[in-house]
Amino acid sequence: MINLRNLQLKEMETLIKSMGQPAFRAKQVFSWIYKGVTDFDQMTNVPKVLRDKLAEETYIGRLKMLKVQKSKTDGTRKYLYELEDGNTIESVFMKYKYGNSICVSSQAGCRMGCRFCASTRNGLERDLTAGEILSQLMEAEADTGEKIGHIVIMGTGEPFDNFDNVAAFLRIVNDKNGLNIGMRNITVSTCGLVPMIERFAEEFPQVNLAISLHGTTDEIRGSMMPVNKKYPLDVLIPACKAYTEKTGRRITFEYTMVNGVNDSDADAARLAGLLRGMLCHVNLIPLNKVAESGFDTVSRKRAGEFAEILESKGIPATVRRELGADIDAACGQLRLGN
Ligand code: SAH
Repeated sequence: MINLRNLQLKEMETLIKSMGQPAFRAKQVFSWIYKGVTDFDQMTNVPKVLRDKLAEETYIGRLKMLKVQKSKTDGTRKYLYELEDGNTIESVFMKYKYGNSICVSSQAGCRMGCRFCASTRNGLERDLTAGEILSQLMEAEADTGEKIGHIVIMGTGEPFDNFDNVAAFLRIVNDKNGLNIGMRNITVSTCGLVPMIERFAEEFPQVNLAISLHGTTDEIRGSMMPVNKKYPLDVLIPACKAYTEKTGRRITFEYTMVNGVNDSDADAARLAGLLRGMLCHVNLIPLNKVAESGFDTVSRKRAGEFAEILESKGIPATVRRELGADIDAACGQLRLGN
């Protein structure tokens, strides 16, 4: 059976033509799906014979919502879903002044091994399909009754380790006939898989890119992120620079601050040096607690001081607003299973 939420409009046209129906029917079906319809019989402008055929050979894949946690302070909701094969994933719905945003997972688990992050604790189970990434948004819209206009691919998983499915997801959510979410309203965050940064610049120059940096020397970054062995700073930073030059888009560097590891004045000065002259912005994230990690967080005051040092050296910096901390929904706290 084909999950229709995995299909880009073009692919749906091919399928529907193979069912002996004209291509324009695909647009109708596609737009029903992204209005939230999950029953073919509700697609009232689609002929019965096609609805029956679709019901025989395809389905509209949903996620089973196992749990919803609602923050008492800021409207954040964390969802735990079960996939068809029994794996579980989480996503987070957030309210901002500019509108609603969803943080989606791109993999069940993660194999990047960052030492401060809960999502990678049990390794990678598997990649998510485009439809499974999409359904996280659809289910959150259905649950809240609200439209979601912004997406961050910052949940569990490394999106650039699942590039093809993430790419299909981006094309589907961006389609005018469906959700029509602008590329500029979407952010993809990567731990720094360099060849994929190049591919991303080529294929998705409008989508915002965030890079998880977290360290200013190979020694420090390597102690936090195993991926630094494969793509050390003298490879990553030039790739980032090339990205900004090619696309004209600003990169957001995420910098999770860990007490005594990467939070000194010297770290701030080195960070400013690394990023000097690049079209970028630094987003400081005081480490969120992850039970097993053994790392310590910093105060928001210290993060503010660190930001000031960066600013004084000409690097724009902000401290990330923390949403959903009371329900363990903050960065690095999403995990496989529960
Ligand atoms: N794999 C992608 C997507 C994850 S995004 C990436 O690495 O970018 C989640 C962001 O939260 C990343 O910047 C990640 O490094 C950061 N993060 C992970 N664990 C964290 C923690 N315990 N506290 C604060 N930030 C954390």
